[in-house]
Amino acid sequence: MSALGTTAELDRAIVLALDNRPLDGAALTAVLSAAASGAASGAAPGTGTATPNEAFGRLLAGARAVRRRNFNTDLHLCAIVNAKSGGCTEDCAFCAQSGHHKTANPRHAFLDPGQIEQAALAARARGASRFGIVTSGLALNADDFARLLLAVRLVRGTGLYADVSVGLLGAERLAWLVDAGLSGVHHNLETARSFFPQICTTHSYDEDVEAVRLALAAGLFVCCGGIFGLGESWDERAELGQTLLELGVANVPVNFLVPIPGTRLEHRPVLSQAEALGILALLRLMLPRANLRVCGGRSAVFGSAAPAPEGEGMRELFRSGISGLMIGDYLTLKGSPAEADLALARELGLTPTPTPNPGQGR
Ligand code: SF4
Repeated sequence: MSALGTTAELDRAIVLALDNRPLDGAALTAVLSAAASGAASGAAPGTGTATPNEAFGRLLAGARAVRRRNFNTDLHLCAIVNAKSGGCTEDCAFCAQSGHHKTANPRHAFLDPGQIEQAALAARARGASRFGIVTSGLALNADDFARLLLAVRLVRGTGLYADVSVGLLGAERLAWLVDAGLSGVHHNLETARSFFPQICTTHSYDEDVEAVRLALAAGLFVCCGGIFGLGESWDERAELGQTLLELGVANVPVNFLVPIPGTRLEHRPVLSQAEALGILALLRLMLPRANLRVCGGRSAVFGSAAPAPEGEGMRELFRSGISGLMIGDYLTLKGSPAEADLALARELGLTPTPTPNPGQGR
């Protein structure tokens, strides 16, 4: 296809997304081509005047327009606590908590529910509206599940929505949690089905998809996304986007790999800002209505919310197609100070906003 033809297809893709319609094959190809060319050129967004930077600049502007159309200036905030860390039976190639890896990640048993409540109160003070209780492992034992039920009640008592990310949950456990006040379930697919066997061999992609389907069927707030920079191709990124679209997931966390010493992916490079912005634009156009939340790896890729020029990466991130942000610490990594993130977001005209539950609007 000629450069002109590609530009026309890219513009058509942006129009489709602005109308909240799915991208067809030609439109998706144009988006992937613009994202990949921008990433390959390492283009600083907004500075290019010629191919491929022009296409990349167009793509980023389109993603920003779709965000504005569907989310206005809203920036949805959430926070998590790592309630049980390390010793996981699974072999996810990127994960510091896998028992298959030798990392310096601290291990701890399930936290006392009172400590989880304190963490929720701190997150509320920083402006979060949702609080996720996250544990390592494929499933909790009976004692830890009892602690989780109490923790969910305590978090709900703080006024925050209580979410969990605790591996695979059957229908019965899900019902117990809903009874305790559970609002949402977070379960990542991590990557495309076709790439998954290179990342995890100890459970199947179908088990993860089923966990997401069960949570959606229960009418819960469901957060389901992945981690990028594992060595997946652009087509595999689009494949994950398509799976999320077909599942009908409304909240998509986007994580970027931070290569942790001792893990299988310890030698992979951190993604460039241009590549990460291209991924966010791809997802924004494929999933125009989804709340795209940037979570782990944000600081490694985009830096801190320091004054420019040091904080220029974070400025580009806030001007991208995202509509949500995890604040505070991540699972195994320290986060950046929430106050600085929020001050910068406000400076750029964004409005930290509570995320409603299903049935309460977007
Ligand atoms: S990502 Fe989750 S399931 Fe995979 S190793 Fe880490 S804690 Fe275990």
